[in-house]
Amino acid sequence: MFGDAIYEVMPVYGGRIFTETEHLARLSRSLNEVKISPPMTESQWSLLLREAVQRSGERDALIYVQVTRGVAPTRSHVYPNTRPTVLVTVTPFKPLAREAVVPLSVKTALDFRWQRADIKVTSLIANGMIKNEALAEGYDDAVMIRDGKVTEGTASNVFIVVGDEIRTPPKSWQLLHGITRAEMIDTARGCGMEVVETIIDEAELYEAHELWLSSTGLELAPVGRVNDQLIGDGKAGPIWHQMFEAFQKRKQTID
Ligand code: PMP
Repeated sequence: MFGDAIYEVMPVYGGRIFTETEHLARLSRSLNEVKISPPMTESQWSLLLREAVQRSGERDALIYVQVTRGVAPTRSHVYPNTRPTVLVTVTPFKPLAREAVVPLSVKTALDFRWQRADIKVTSLIANGMIKNEALAEGYDDAVMIRDGKVTEGTASNVFIVVGDEIRTPPKSWQLLHGITRAEMIDTARGCGMEVVETIIDEAELYEAHELWLSSTGLELAPVGRVNDQLIGDGKAGPIWHQMFEAFQKRKQTID
């Protein structure tokens, strides 16, 4: 009733859970922030998720994990002393092949969400409102702006490329600390690219040579248009192509 729950979404590639440790660490952090007592240890989670993947029979999938505070006797703002309810689903999912990736168009939108976007809570009504308003206006998504600064996409983190520098907003309460964001930062640095975690003004979006959104499901999606402005020539840029290749390799080599 209170949207009193947190969640995680993790990728499974070739039957293996990718970045499981990082996702479980974020799950623990989310639980701790909202004071839901952990229903199990991280090693128990790991066993449970492996079993779920095995039972699903899927090789390429997304795991959805949700922990709600549990079944309360009455509606009350006071945390009840309940046993958390755990939901785990495994859904077949394959990220797009490079040839199938089409640059997205996004609008900028006021980030009117609450101030703790760093906690992965299931209460996503604001994200849904902003996303659906963008869709209704013919865009694929929105990049959210708070106090003139870029925070994140409705379900993704934001990167821009300016010259040969990659920039992304620094971790704060205002955005989810995306696991893919961290993976992309490491991937880029591993290729010898310069990555700077810095505040990005809305105006910088329009000047960017490339703009990307990152998430578990999207991996790294190029953006070709912001509002009525093309990014570069509107196509996926050269650094995106390099990043795409490097990330595919990383997926095969890193746990
Ligand atoms: N920001 C928001 C608001 C999100 O919902 C998501 C994806 N759930 C992300 C960023 C990206 O996070 P991740 O890379 O861990 O999937």
